[in-house]
Amino acid sequence: MVASPAPTAGAESDPAAGWEAIIIGAGIAGMYQLHRLRELGMRVRVFEAGSDVGGTWYWNRYPGARFDSESWSYGYSFSEELLQEWEWPEHFAAQPDTLRYLNHVADKFDLRRDIRFDSRVVAAHFDDAANRWTVTLESGEQARAPLLITALGPLSAHTLPNIPGRDSFEGPAFHTARWPREPMSLAGKRVGIIGTGATAIQVIQTIAGEVGHLAVFQRTPNWAAPLHNRPITPEEQKRIKASYREIFERCRQTDTCFIHQADPRSALEVSPEEREAFWEKLYAEPGFGIWVGNFRDVLTDPRANALASEFVARKIRERVRDPKVAEKLIPKNHGFGTRRLPLESGYYEVYNQDNVLLVDINETPIERITPKGIRTSDAEHEFDVLIYATGFDGVTGPYDRIDIRGPGGRRLKDDWAGTPRTFLGMQAEGFPNMLMVLGPHTARGNIPRNIEEIVDWLTGLIRHMRAHGLTRVEPRPEAVAEWTAHVEEAASRLLFSRVNSWQTGVNRNVEGRDVRRTLGYYGGAVAYRRKIEAVAAQGYREFEFR
Ligand code: NAP
Repeated sequence: MVASPAPTAGAESDPAAGWEAIIIGAGIAGMYQLHRLRELGMRVRVFEAGSDVGGTWYWNRYPGARFDSESWSYGYSFSEELLQEWEWPEHFAAQPDTLRYLNHVADKFDLRRDIRFDSRVVAAHFDDAANRWTVTLESGEQARAPLLITALGPLSAHTLPNIPGRDSFEGPAFHTARWPREPMSLAGKRVGIIGTGATAIQVIQTIAGEVGHLAVFQRTPNWAAPLHNRPITPEEQKRIKASYREIFERCRQTDTCFIHQADPRSALEVSPEEREAFWEKLYAEPGFGIWVGNFRDVLTDPRANALASEFVARKIRERVRDPKVAEKLIPKNHGFGTRRLPLESGYYEVYNQDNVLLVDINETPIERITPKGIRTSDAEHEFDVLIYATGFDGVTGPYDRIDIRGPGGRRLKDDWAGTPRTFLGMQAEGFPNMLMVLGPHTARGNIPRNIEEIVDWLTGLIRHMRAHGLTRVEPRPEAVAEWTAHVEEAASRLLFSRVNSWQTGVNRNVEGRDVRRTLGYYGGAVAYRRKIEAVAAQGYREFEFR
């Protein structure tokens, strides 16, 4: 049994009694799950790879990191006191503020005493006879508990590009998800960055003004639209605090749990003038309205999508002075919004600066990373710093990195090699007592909203088990088959299912991850909630208990 590093209280002062639940991860999900299980009086241990709380917001400290959700729709909703005492400084908060917020939550609810930091879990094996999970840390230490809750985060397994010579570069080189904790000045430096996803866009627009030279190595351009962030005024702050109930109710009514909901009209049934006026309005408004609050068919009908793509392409051409550069920045292999839309603040204008160079690596491929920089087919680019904004092995990657085995040594990684099979995205078939927060096949959008809902539901399931003296839960195979088929069917209606991205499970830096899979539930958060509430109300009939 792992000894607790911090003074413990209550039943936990007797570690021989063992933990009743182990949670992996102390990000937004793990922190809230810990809080809820404590309310049930359970002895819980959380293992966290980082040195403090925060998950995504602990690791992703790169310049310009911030979320694209409205701040006031992003925080936890479970404590009125927390809502009233916390002040978000901006409508879309930057990473340091979000991390400060999560530290405040950890302090307020005294969460750290049950969390062991610097403790990466490398294996979790189920002992069928003892009905217990044994969790092994990188250090070799082990801990046991009947319940295992994975709060791993969908974007925690970062991936480096598999380019020859990657480790030969002599200067500092970082993946954005491993940005150093100590401040690092890039002023006047020659910087190379690989990638043009949501992360790279934030880095590029933030550092372009201070670096001496910036070269952006682009393989696939992404559609992006303006964020329109600004500080929250004192009057707005008062109004926000007075209307939290309405804000969260609004999020409950939308398909993505953002405040934005698709317009019921078709882009094809309105006049060109009306369409144009609506798109101009959305382009000028803050947040994801232009993505998930667009005409209802923009993300499902190729004709509507082509019109929206044309509109945004025109905006890019207007903003980028050199027409050749503008063309390179306009995606040609996927339509607007069919990958997760990055929101930007002056991104396109960066390419009008003399110190910024866009390198299209389809025209001039990267041959290798050298001690001095990057060699492409036509040039040697020398840098002081290299940045890998090359993304993540999404959703299943964090599970693949832990050796998870169910009864009889059944490996989760093998089971999910093709595609995941789950019931409600909360349990995999054949892995008793392993409960997933935001695993594959759950509704996703405004992440903390999804997390709170799932954690509350799992807490209800655990409460049910404790009330009825049940010690083992797993989903019935027919429930898994039905849910997995439903998830596939729901995704097939969206254009994004036909496009390679982390959301469809494609990552060319990971062996075997070149085939698209369905990793989320895209039937909408409202339908998802209806389903999980019905399962609970009808007594969890889709599960087998012992
Ligand atoms: P990403 O969207 O997967 O982008 C990775 C980028 O790296 C892509 O441009 C990719 O090109 C490129 N790349 C990967 N391997 C490469 C290689 N070997 N050679 C050249 N280029 C390579 O990852 P991300 O930008 O980190 O974003 C991931 C997700 O995190 C986002 O979609 C979003 O959900 C979340 N995020 C959110 C925020 C926010 O809330 N504001 C900010 C950042 C991230 P290809 O497209 O050609 O593969």
